[in-house]
Amino acid sequence: MTPRIQTPEAAFEEDLDRSLRPRRLEDFVGQEPLKAQLKVALEAAKQRGEALDHVLLAGPPGLGKTSLAQILAAELEVDFVQTAGPALERKADIAAFLSALEPGSVFFVDEIHRLSRALEETFYPAMEDRELPITVGQGAGARVMTVPLPPFTLVGATTRAGLLSRPLRDRFGIQHRLELYTEEELATIVRRSATILGCAVDPEGARVIARRSRGTPRVANRLLKRVRDYAEVRGSGVVDAAAAEAALELLEIDHLGLDRLDREILTAICERFDGGPVGLSTLAASVGEEQDTIEDVYEPYLMQVGFLKRTPRGRVATPAAFQHLGLEPSGSPGLF
Ligand code: ADP
Repeated sequence: MTPRIQTPEAAFEEDLDRSLRPRRLEDFVGQEPLKAQLKVALEAAKQRGEALDHVLLAGPPGLGKTSLAQILAAELEVDFVQTAGPALERKADIAAFLSALEPGSVFFVDEIHRLSRALEETFYPAMEDRELPITVGQGAGARVMTVPLPPFTLVGATTRAGLLSRPLRDRFGIQHRLELYTEEELATIVRRSATILGCAVDPEGARVIARRSRGTPRVANRLLKRVRDYAEVRGSGVVDAAAAEAALELLEIDHLGLDRLDREILTAICERFDGGPVGLSTLAASVGEEQDTIEDVYEPYLMQVGFLKRTPRGRVATPAAFQHLGLEPSGSPGLF
């Protein structure tokens, strides 16, 4: 398996995630349709004494996919085993995980879209028939043996459901796309996190952070920490609107929650490419960022606020984006 190299920033985020993660379904804010669906499925599985159906969770990073997978294990009172697509390089890696599962366990595979096609296929019989075909021996003497597996629930998380092969996707009984959170929901998450961190926050302070969190709980928690630092060092110690505004300005996060890279992406499209359309790879090269990061992390929010559109010919900035950047809209009115 590939060792993970972690930047200090990523390690900080992981610690923060762990400490603030909701533990039960009732602590998980928002995503009401999904929660309602899961509640029924959990109850039915418990009543029948069976493993929960396999679950596929799609959506941008930081929306709560890992948290939900852990919550499912907690609600079912079963083991939670976690890995990620890129860590599974060979069939034997999957076999090692699956054959060691306690009955009923939740097996969480993050970034499941990054499994190779051949490895995806290993999951088919495991998910459907709880069997793992293993080839023993080599050449003419090779035989396929079938190893029975304990009942388990595969929870797959992906930022790109579209990259999963159809047969794999179809084997998930429950499939759901998580939506960006509303300001109200994010304010609730900020208040809950502040209580866990032991910091005082007033409702307006929570609201300012929520409004600038790009619809994403992980961002809300990160900003809360930064604002708390600011409030303690420069303010009254309370996370209020004034501390939030000042701290976010220092972080170069504007009133809509756009950070420097968001603005660079928009500026590149508006100025360098005349409003677009521009292809993703050209755009990525032009701002010096990975294509995946732009597509998974930045674009969903830029589209939600109505600044960016994906078209068959590439990315296009909207007139609202020009206006937000204080630029004159380019002259290609035919695009809208
Ligand atoms: P993902 O797996 O989708 O990247 P995570 O489950 O790791 O997201 O969530 C990131 C952090 O955001 C969690 O540690 C948790 O603190 C917070 N979070 C996410 N969703 C919610 C939610 N619905 N309610 C409360 N906190 C949440």
